[in-house]
Amino acid sequence: MTSVSPHKKAKALKPTSRRPAKELCSECGLCDTYYIHYVKEACAFINQQIGELEVETHTRSRHLDNPDELYFGVHQDMIAARKQQPIEGAQWTGIVSSIAIEMLNRGLVEGVVCVQNTKEDRFQPMPIIARTPEEILAARVNKPTLSPNLSVLEQIEKSGMKRLLVIGVGCQIQALRAVEKQLGLEKLYVLGTPCVDNVNRAGLQKFLETTSRSPETVVHYEFMQDFRVHFKHEDGSSETVPFFGLKTNKLKDVFAPSCMSCFDYVNSLADLVVGYMGAPFGWQWIVVRNDTGKEMLDLVQDQLDTQPVTSKGNRKEAVQQSIPAYDKGVTLPMWAAKLMGVVIEKIGPKGLEYARFSIDSHFTRNYLYVKRNHPEKLEAHVPEFAKRIVEQYKLPE
Ligand code: FAD
Ligand code: SF4
Repeated sequence: MTSVSPHKKAKALKPTSRRPAKELCSECGLCDTYYIHYVKEACAFINQQIGELEVETHTRSRHLDNPDELYFGVHQDMIAARKQQPIEGAQWTGIVSSIAIEMLNRGLVEGVVCVQNTKEDRFQPMPIIARTPEEILAARVNKPTLSPNLSVLEQIEKSGMKRLLVIGVGCQIQALRAVEKQLGLEKLYVLGTPCVDNVNRAGLQKFLETTSRSPETVVHYEFMQDFRVHFKHEDGSSETVPFFGLKTNKLKDVFAPSCMSCFDYVNSLADLVVGYMGAPFGWQWIVVRNDTGKEMLDLVQDQLDTQPVTSKGNRKEAVQQSIPAYDKGVTLPMWAAKLMGVVIEKIGPKGLEYARFSIDSHFTRNYLYVKRNHPEKLEAHVPEFAKRIVEQYKLPE
C-alpha cells in the first residue's frame, strides 16, 4: 500500500479554513501549500514558540540575563559592514544578494527562496526559487509589503532539491523552522532580515500617499538611523521626511495587524541576520547566530569593509515619551518635527542603542495592541524576552 505524508492530504481543505490566524495572518505563504497541515503548530501568530525553536536551531535559547542577547537573540558575533562595491539598486549595499549568489555559485545550495516583484507593480511581491545569480539579483531591494515567501515550499519537495537557502523575515522563518524537518532537505540555510511595520499592498499605497511628495515615483524607501524616512524616486532624486512628522493619526491603521502583534523584529531563528539598525548610518548590521551563519558570512568577507558595532546615548526617555504620543496619534507640525529630528540626531541613541530604541518603541506599542485587541493571547503570544523589555516602561491602560 502507498503511504501518503499527512501534509499531502491537506489540499482537500476548504478555502474558508485556509487562514487560521484570521486577521493576524501575515500572509507568510505556508497556508498556500499542503504544509497547511501543520499550521496550528507552525504559524507564528497561533503558536509563538521562539524559545523552543531557538534551542532546535541554535542548540540553546537566548541568555535573558545577557543584555545583548535579550535584545538581539542568540548570537556569536555582531559587526557593521558594507560592500566595497555596492550592488546597484539593492536595498542597502547588497550583502544579502551577494551571499546568496556566492552560495549558489559555489554549489552550497541548488536554489534560493527570494522575492522578485511582478511585471506590473514594483512593490507587488512574487516569491520564487532562484536557480541563477541573475534571478537572485532580480530579487534585490525590499518589497515593503507582506510577502507569501513560503508559498513556494511545495515546489522544493517536487523538484527533489536537497540543499536550499531561504531569505525571509521573522514570521516566515518561524513557520519555516517549524516545518523544516518535513521538507526532506539535507541542508537548509536561512538568511534573515529584521522586519517591522509591514503593510499589505493597499496599506503601502496609503503610506506613500500620506508621506511622500510623489508617491507614484517612489522606487525604494527606508526608515533610517537618522530618524528620517528616506525615499528614492525614479529620477534618482531623494526625499526625506522626519519620523516625528509622520501623520501618525492617519497611519495608525496602516500597519498589518500581524506586524502590530509581532515580537520577532530581529529574526531570532535565522542563521545569519542582515539589517541596518544596529550600525552607523550608511552601514549594514550583521548578526551571526550560529556556525551556519558564520559559514555564510565568510563567503563574502573579502568583498566587505567591516567595523565593530558600537553603542552611544540613552534611549529610555525618548521611548517613554513616545509611548503616549503614539497611543493618541499625535502628529507634530513639520517645523517642530524637523527640529526634534535634528536635536535627537545630535544627542540621541546611536548604533546598538538606536536598535534598542526601535525595539523598545515597537514592543511597547505592540504589547498594548495585543493587550487591547487580543487579551486572551497576551500571556502565550508575548515571548519572555519581550515581556522583560516592555516591563522597563510605564504603559497607559
Ligand atoms: P538586497 O541585496 O537588496 O536583498 C534584499 C532581499 O530581501 C532580497 O533577497 C529579497 O528576496 C528580500 N525581500 C524583499 N522583500 C521582502 C519581503 N517583503 N519579505 C521577505 N523578504 C523580502 N532592517 C532593519 O535593520 N530594521 C528594520 O526595521 C527593517 N525592516 C525591514 C522590513 C522589510 C519588509 C524587509 C524586507 C527588510 C527590512 N529590514 C530591516 C532589512 C533591510 O531593509 C535590508 O533588507 C537588509 O539590510 C538587506 O539589505 P541588502 O542591500 O543586503 O539587500
Ligand atoms: Fe497561515 Fe502564515 Fe497566515 Fe499563519 S501567517 S495563517 S501560517 S499564511
